[in-house]
Amino acid sequence: MNNTKDKIIPVKVYVRVRPLNDAEVSRASRIIVDCPSNSREVVINERPNDKITRKFTFDKVFGPNSKQIDVYKSVAAPLIKEVLDGYNCTIFAYGQTGAGKTYTMEGRRCNNPTVSWTSDLHAGIIPRAVGHLFDELRLLRAEYSVKASFLEIYNEEIFDLLSPVDDTNKLRLYDDAVKKGAVIVSGLDEIAVRKKEDVYAVLDRGSRKRQTAATLMNAASSRSHTVFSITVRIRENAIDDNELLRTGKLNLVDLAGSENIGRSGAIEKRAREAGNINQSLLTLGRVITALVEKTPHVPYRESKLTRLLQESLGGRTKTCIIATISPSQCNMEETLSTLDYAHRAK
Ligand code: ADP
Ligand code: MG
Repeated sequence: MNNTKDKIIPVKVYVRVRPLNDAEVSRASRIIVDCPSNSREVVINERPNDKITRKFTFDKVFGPNSKQIDVYKSVAAPLIKEVLDGYNCTIFAYGQTGAGKTYTMEGRRCNNPTVSWTSDLHAGIIPRAVGHLFDELRLLRAEYSVKASFLEIYNEEIFDLLSPVDDTNKLRLYDDAVKKGAVIVSGLDEIAVRKKEDVYAVLDRGSRKRQTAATLMNAASSRSHTVFSITVRIRENAIDDNELLRTGKLNLVDLAGSENIGRSGAIEKRAREAGNINQSLLTLGRVITALVEKTPHVPYRESKLTRLLQESLGGRTKTCIIATISPSQCNMEETLSTLDYAHRAK
């Protein structure tokens, strides 16, 4: 992405390659993903024997040895200032099931209780972002509040992952009558987060609820999206003693597995026939394309996910996509699909 484009289009696209997993190692699957040293390119050795390769360039490519902290520093840390300044930012993790979306967004918990999560190498973007926000907020001479919400979108229905009861109530979306472009999720719980350590209780509560709901609905979690939102409200006394209230929001989205999205960016015929149309995933691609190409009509209203995030996509907001991929030959078709989708967002 060149500089002029960078200024106009606030969508940054990153790629993260995970290490080979045990199944791939035991199948002796070949590594076909190469991350040359300049760290913006990824090369797919499509037909290694014929030396046929495809090369893609992104804002940054994180290789299989990249650490959670490196991803955090490059992708998420710059957004914290924006949020504190009262803007909305969104990070999406996109990719086939098993490619590392949840590892990137939430991380993997260390089972050793003596290791605090703040020093946990595997902590993902969500806990790191909450920790970073509190570190910055403490430096401000202002009153503030931090609240979290956590919801799931499955089959174009919205479920609250933090509601205290074991229900599968569907939440409705309303246009905000006061604030243009804003959308309200009626009945969505917002939980006060008082210190950084609270974030894991919120995540745990959400994933427990997600599991029970999935069982109740007989649903596959790989087909649902989760949206973890952190809202920061800062009250400052202005010079003339007027109170100034600033609200910023960070949305951290773990998308449904992209395995039904074909190379063209449309749902594959096979999946369409099976009724596996993920409207939100498809519309997100169209919305991002519309924002990047600056077409006058952005189809926010065509899916729950894009409608929910309408206020946080486009305009004075920052959006990042982390496309997660497997390094292995056995996943090459999905990897190329993911890179094509991500590349269109640039
Ligand atoms: P997804 O959410 O995309 O389905 P996961 O994040 O659950 O995939 O990752 C699948 C498995 O691979 C998990 O066991 C996860 O811990 C591991 N994993 C994913 N990415 C990485 C990585 N970058 N480094 C180490 N392990 C990873
Ligand atoms: Mg996952």
